[in-house]
Amino acid sequence: MKRIQEIYSQLSQPRKVVITTHQKPDADAMGASLALRHFLVQFGHEVTVISPTNWAGWVNWMPGVNEVLDYEANQQKAGKALDEAQWLFCLDFNIFHRTKTMTEKLKQLNCTKILIDHHQDPDEPSFDYGISNTAKSSTCEMIYDLVIESGNEEKITEEISECIYAGVVGDTGSFRFESAHAGVHKLVADLKSRGFKHDNVHDKLFDNFLENRLRFVGHVLLHRMEVFYEYNTVLIAVPKSDLLKYQIKTGDTEGLVNFPQSIQGIKLVALVIDRDEERKWSFRSKGDFDCNDFARKYFDGGGHFNAAGGRSNDSLEKTVQHFKTVMKQNEALLQ
Ligand code: 5GP
Ligand code: MN
Repeated sequence: MKRIQEIYSQLSQPRKVVITTHQKPDADAMGASLALRHFLVQFGHEVTVISPTNWAGWVNWMPGVNEVLDYEANQQKAGKALDEAQWLFCLDFNIFHRTKTMTEKLKQLNCTKILIDHHQDPDEPSFDYGISNTAKSSTCEMIYDLVIESGNEEKITEEISECIYAGVVGDTGSFRFESAHAGVHKLVADLKSRGFKHDNVHDKLFDNFLENRLRFVGHVLLHRMEVFYEYNTVLIAVPKSDLLKYQIKTGDTEGLVNFPQSIQGIKLVALVIDRDEERKWSFRSKGDFDCNDFARKYFDGGGHFNAAGGRSNDSLEKTVQHFKTVMKQNEALLQ
């Protein structure tokens, strides 16, 4: 994989570009994709953003989201854009299987593939150009770096600022995680000095749900949460019946995994959602417990040191049992 800087001089030659990201894109994935789109169209590129799957309703406010193609729902149109693409940007993921049903399609493409990502263990041979940096707070921060480093700061519009800021807020837990380094605050200061209004974005990200979602959170914390003080661990297992009862949609469970972190002394939080297609795990840790390693080893997943995800085809009961077994095996790391 050649350095991302090598494409900077080619930015001014218009191309057919596809931007894609991981399945069920979150604020960082969608924010980075749309920020890059708003940037590239200013050079005359013909840009299509494709999400491998649908996305949470709470990212629907992002400027440009209406033109994003959902690959599962629009395979023909999205497939055509991919076939014609000269450049393919892969944002906020680093291995093709994170795009689910799009995986084989992406592998077959002969176009120039460009990676911009901050997760561990990138599949570098699959990309022609790119940057992979786990020290970055978010992929949105990396899009900001690209704009600045390539000498195009005058192209930062309010739309770009909104998208970048949303991703930074999302991936740093509102500037709370260690990943919110000095450069992140400088980035925000720079956007602010260009006139960006940040309070709107918080409103759209956090105060934009329906009543049922708040009642679901209350129900789950009361009835589905187990605390294992001897392992400094909290487990939340959400059965399908809860999702149906509270009419939970994609994205409504985002943030749930953060609540148990407010309990004193908790080191690991594990959340499993009984989705139709699989049991989806989320892991969050504090301090020196490596969630990426844990998710890779036991739950076919990965991510970052303090935040990772995984999956299982087992029943909810069986995957929960497996979790409890491996939690006990990892007792020493959880002290
Ligand atoms: P979340 O728990 O919010 O879904 O994911 C936490 C972090 O882990 C995110 O950065 C996400 O991209 C990553 N992640 C989630 N699920 C998986 C997975 O199955 N495989 C890998 N490699 N990363 C994942
Ligand atoms: Mn991210």
